[in-house]
Amino acid sequence: MTDCLFCRIVAREIPADVVHETDRTLAFRDVNPQAPTHVLVIPKDHHPTVAALAHADPDLLGAVVRDVSAVAVQEGLATEDGVEPGYRVVTNTGPQAGQSVDHVHLHVLGGRDLRWPPG
Ligand code: IMP
Repeated sequence: MTDCLFCRIVAREIPADVVHETDRTLAFRDVNPQAPTHVLVIPKDHHPTVAALAHADPDLLGAVVRDVSAVAVQEGLATEDGVEPGYRVVTNTGPQAGQSVDHVHLHVLGGRDLRWPPG
């Protein structure tokens, strides 16, 4: 059994509120939401960071980004052909950025005004 939390969510060993799924990706709500919509989009395969994923499997990174777009539309944060009202995509990399799960995940945040710069 893997000790990666998100691999265990993919394997359905740990429950999650799944909002979107493809053969290679999974999207589920963050347990500690930082905005009215806060969804994590992940590849089902384990890669530690977005940079590692980009090098190992760029097609899979593209699939993850396409899923971000699908989730944004599904959650009412964008339309098929527009970017209103808008959303933010974040991927924390490494300890100083606050990455706490060692399985690449793209945060999709929206549903309120988002400030810049983030903390
Ligand atoms: P990071 O800090 O950028 O690595 O993001 C990890 C995210 O995973 C955090 O926002 C956590 O709230 C979230 N998280 C941790 N455990 C779970 C879980 O079991 N289900 C859904 N989200 C989780």
